[in-house]
Amino acid sequence: MTTVLTPASPLTAADRCDRCGAQAYVRVVLLSGGELLFCAHHGRKFEPELKKIAAEIQDETERLTTVPASTPEEER
Ligand SMILES: [Zn+2]
Repeated sequence: MTTVLTPASPLTAADRCDRCGAQAYVRVVLLSGGELLFCAHHGRKFEPELKKIAAEIQDETERLTTVPASTPEEER
């Protein structure tokens, strides 16, 4: 398998936290070339450690807080 630099793709429901199996919201590309996935909880928990070994951290945890409103204001 060849490693190709691809544009960061959004995390999906199929991406699971390496620690607990919950849906992943944080993708960590390691300096060593590997990749780790974490849920928001574990992403935050390991963030200080991950920053030391990560080439890139893709953080999509803000998607958790932007819960789609059932009736948007502009729908009037
Ligand atoms: Zn987790």
